[in-house]
Amino acid sequence: MAVGLYEPGGDFAVAALTLAGVVVILGVLEMWQGGGDSPPDVSFFGTPGPLLWVVTVWAFFRYFGEIAPQLILFPVGLIGWLVISFPMQGLLVPFLAVIGMEAGLWGLGFQETAGLAGNLAAYGAAGLGLSVFMSSKAYRQRMRKALIRAKRDTASRQYARDLGLFAETPDLLSVLPDHDLIEDPEAGSQPAVATITASFDLQLELIRQTLALSTVALLWPDPEGQEYRLRSIATTRKDIAPGPFQVGAGITGALMGAEELVSLAPATPSLGVPYYPKQIEVGGILAVRLPDDAEEWLGFDDKKIAPVLCVDRPGQQPWTDGEKTTMTLAARKLALDVATSRQFQAMAHERSAIQRVCLAMRELNGALGLEQVLGATIKAVRTLVGADFISISLVKGNGHCVALAEGEGAEHLMGREFSREEGLVGQVLKINRPLPAKGQCHGPTQVFGHDHLLTGYNSLLVLPLQKVKGEATGALTVAVKAAAVFTKPRQEILELIAAQVAVKIDLGQAHEEINRLATIDGLTGLINHRTFQRGFDVMLLREERRSGALSLLLCDIDHFKKINDSHGHPFGDKVLKEVAGILRKAARGVDLAARYGGEEFVLVLEGSGEQGGLQMAERIRQEIEKMVLHNESGPVQVTLSLGLAVYPDHGTDKERLISRADQALYRAKKQGRNRVVVWEAE
Ligand code: GH3
Ligand code: MG
Ligand code: MG
Repeated sequence: MAVGLYEPGGDFAVAALTLAGVVVILGVLEMWQGGGDSPPDVSFFGTPGPLLWVVTVWAFFRYFGEIAPQLILFPVGLIGWLVISFPMQGLLVPFLAVIGMEAGLWGLGFQETAGLAGNLAAYGAAGLGLSVFMSSKAYRQRMRKALIRAKRDTASRQYARDLGLFAETPDLLSVLPDHDLIEDPEAGSQPAVATITASFDLQLELIRQTLALSTVALLWPDPEGQEYRLRSIATTRKDIAPGPFQVGAGITGALMGAEELVSLAPATPSLGVPYYPKQIEVGGILAVRLPDDAEEWLGFDDKKIAPVLCVDRPGQQPWTDGEKTTMTLAARKLALDVATSRQFQAMAHERSAIQRVCLAMRELNGALGLEQVLGATIKAVRTLVGADFISISLVKGNGHCVALAEGEGAEHLMGREFSREEGLVGQVLKINRPLPAKGQCHGPTQVFGHDHLLTGYNSLLVLPLQKVKGEATGALTVAVKAAAVFTKPRQEILELIAAQVAVKIDLGQAHEEINRLATIDGLTGLINHRTFQRGFDVMLLREERRSGALSLLLCDIDHFKKINDSHGHPFGDKVLKEVAGILRKAARGVDLAARYGGEEFVLVLEGSGEQGGLQMAERIRQEIEKMVLHNESGPVQVTLSLGLAVYPDHGTDKERLISRADQALYRAKKQGRNRVVVWEAE
């Protein structure tokens, strides 16, 4: 505000900043010494918080105003925030301080009298405006509410700590919840009903004994407000009518006006208690409405038809004020019991939902590879809903492909590809929102494509698998034969799971890619040396168990260095790929073909003895020999030398076999290359 009026001049900024700096340091020191635990005390001379802020802001806008007047927006915003964050008296001292500082600038000659007057007027006007705002009803109410809320929260936390209400944390994930409270909120309410009934019975008997009454009855209206049901009763009489009773019958009718308590002594038969068929030996009656004013505990829209606590006694003496107060308090206590019970039930619902979600998440979190993630997803969805059909489609090129499906007809769907233009899945992938809207389906539905109908389900939901935001990477389809399964809470939970699944699928794909890169040789696509070592171990163990044979072929391209030298490395790479291709083709599904290193390859032939090994080696050698590759300078041919060692004839352990195959290969090279040599002792 003042910046606009003030003419900058001299080095006032240095003076202002120095002054402000001192105040800030003093303030920080005091705050630090005050300790962090004490509650904020914003009294007249209390915490230096507001003073600190205002002085800092003042210094800043004084300084920055000189550089760029637009920067005034920052301090104005900050001061506005300060004003609504602190009570008014807390700002009085800093406000006076700012006026003092302005006066100081004037006193030291940094500011003209006109400038000072203008600034003070601006501060005055701003102050006045802010005080009007702060004394406004809405602001005062907001502050008062915030204070009350803070006080209540602190008090309730203290009480909970004293009562040890947080002492035990139940093991949320030890078991699957007994009842699916997401689906059926009334399930599992028996314990709550039993507790509250016992509590009601006890309290009614207590009232009956204390006030020497014949009967104490609690009448509860049905949800439609048509009739009263006898919920609980303490009585010495035998002639009790079980109800239900007409709303407004007898004395309850007298409570449908403004009255909260009605008492009669002597009782008149026309305003009797509803629970006696005949009003015999009824001297005095009293009825009180259970209160529902403060927090809408009981949730009756029409407060006139509220639960009623109704009592009677044989004596006709008038009801004393003490007795009436006791009854009003008892009614309050009963209402509070119900409210407490409701809170417990609400907590049980929340717990049940969280339990299911956590179990589903745990299922998912354990999964690593894509296949595992897909399997875990199906399990997780099953934990949440008793699905009859579940499938996961993944985006593939321009379409989508069913990566995993479970349920009727799932086997025909697995691996099938569909276009994005087809079916519900395609639509979901396009719009990135679950379909159909209410999770309902009427009759056969084209979920995947034109030529496939999902039939026999009444509830259906296709959810996009989408990481936080962005394009969907797939879709999750869940179908249930039962109708109206996908309630809103369930849909929300499934959406949560779908988001998690999308992330996990991404991670699963990454995991598989990393795995692939770690096991496969990048140039030739054959498995690498490390994977060969592990695979060879497994194959040896298998042959050992079934007393079979195994051929180990170590191959090395002849004079490969020369090929590199004369045709270049890229051509050398091409040769390596071609040779690898021939070896891959030669290896059957059970065999192992690997790049051993450089221009050396290894082949393990399962169940093949010396004869078989030799035949295969010779075939490979001839094929390589016949292979013609073309380079700019013309056709190029290569040859291969092979060393063969056979399990168990030439050795039984891995190291020995490899070393003997290597010796055989060495001999092949020595004997002139382009040949197969079987190991034999020298
Ligand atoms: P020998 O007949 O005795 O086996 O002769 P050689 O030249 O094949 O044997 P040597 O082991 O001396 O040379 C192997 C060459 O293979 C050396 C190296 O430059 C080349 N080499 C190894 N790995 C690769 C590769 O990935 N790409 C290419 N282009 N060359 C490779
Ligand atoms: Mg070599
Ligand atoms: Mg070589």
